[in-house]
Amino acid sequence: MNLVLLGPPGSGKGTQAEHLVQKVGLAHLASGDLLRSAVAAGTELGRKTESYMKQGVLVPDEVVIGLILEALEGKSGVILDGFPRTLEQAQALEQALGQRSQTIDRVLYISVAKDELIKRLSSRWTCKQCQAPYNLQGAPPRQEGKCDRCGGELYQRADDQPHTIRKRIEVYLTQTVPLIDYYRRSNRLTEVDGVGEVAQITRAVLQAVGVEG
Ligand code: ADP
Ligand code: ZN
Repeated sequence: MNLVLLGPPGSGKGTQAEHLVQKVGLAHLASGDLLRSAVAAGTELGRKTESYMKQGVLVPDEVVIGLILEALEGKSGVILDGFPRTLEQAQALEQALGQRSQTIDRVLYISVAKDELIKRLSSRWTCKQCQAPYNLQGAPPRQEGKCDRCGGELYQRADDQPHTIRKRIEVYLTQTVPLIDYYRRSNRLTEVDGVGEVAQITRAVLQAVGVEG
């Protein structure tokens, strides 16, 4: 089974992906995490992509497509989080999976209104080590500044600044929203309300993929 988590920045894709991983045992592939690791490691790909990410715009399709398709190699089932984000990426993915007689089985579209996204992203803190997200208002860590899961240091992402947050949402609306229709037309889309208790959203997500919560 291959799943895609689709939704605006701050909709909780990463959080839900973690829960899904535990329940259904698929590999979690987060394009943003892969890109941030490349930046942190100072690879050539990282140097090429850093400025795009800082501005809150999309990294060029060919770069991200290459990165994700490489990460897909040898995996039999994945949860894609943050990819695809453009029609071109969706088509490249479909083609690559098709070559191994696989497909995207279900797309979970996590919907959240714009005002709520801005609120969430501006109070988001992320673990430097494992990328787990926290929210100082809704979901604070047990110990200030430290990751519950791995003890890593929490920081505010460079692109979680008000100006960049607005840019990312605008980019989402113009470049990624067309994917909702793309997957709906092939009957693979399930919309999940992304506002409410995390556990309740997880139940809705699991139900959509046919797994008992
Ligand atoms: P969020 O979903 O909160 O915006 P991500 O970690 O998924 O955070 O993405 C952070 C940044 O990484 C994006 O703003 C973009 O610059 C880059 N990025 C991630 N995934 C993609 C993608 N599929 N295509 C192009 N750029 C991407
Ligand atoms: Zn951590």
